[in-house]
Amino acid sequence: ADLTVLDRVVTGCRACPRLVEWREETARTKRRAYLDWDYWARPIPGFGPPDAPLVLVGLAPAAHGANRTGRIFTGDPSGDLLYASLHRLGLANRAESVRHGDGLALHGVRITDPVRCAPPDNKPTTAERDTCRPWIARELELLRPTVRGVVALGGFAWQALLPALDAAGWTVPRPRPLFGHGAHVTLPARDGGPPLELYGCYHVSPRNTHTGRLTPAMLRELLRTAARAAGL
Ligand code: SF4
Repeated sequence: ADLTVLDRVVTGCRACPRLVEWREETARTKRRAYLDWDYWARPIPGFGPPDAPLVLVGLAPAAHGANRTGRIFTGDPSGDLLYASLHRLGLANRAESVRHGDGLALHGVRITDPVRCAPPDNKPTTAERDTCRPWIARELELLRPTVRGVVALGGFAWQALLPALDAAGWTVPRPRPLFGHGAHVTLPARDGGPPLELYGCYHVSPRNTHTGRLTPAMLRELLRTAARAAGL
């Protein structure tokens, strides 16, 4: 199967009962500002070209963000900053992502999540993270011919990525490298192919951006470094 097929198939997954219930429940109750929206209410596939050299990895969809709009990081403040930053760096054709099918295109970048369904309080359980792992592991495996850089947006993404990268064919050092903003590890490919450059970046959530822990300049700098390392 190629990435287009994977993106379609994942939207039918119902493996996590608690998350299936939550994604559908929020779609029924909605938020006042979005009463006229027909929520997506399914797993969110990765977004971006199937031959991307750079992959950005977040946490999980927001209940009234991606779970509503059907596109990853779309419809909440985290995504607003992320897409605006990609546009500033020439990696997106527009600064705004509105909903799936709005014509936004990314250049050389794919964005994905280790957990594809919106969790209550934005907190998936460890069991849910592990249940969802085969989806991102398969996605990374399908991206292997082109991917040279991965950015983990936050510690959750970092922890979820290490075993997924291992499953997809890269060697993860032991002891496992620690997450931090600016953390950088080179992972050799087990088949002798090109290595992968893994970067840590604070998550683009308002909790980090409102406190100044992550500024737009820091985010752009990190993304620029990772994009260059990936040959973009
Ligand atoms: Fe399936 Fe992942 Fe959603 Fe669980 S979180 S139901 S494994 S897509």
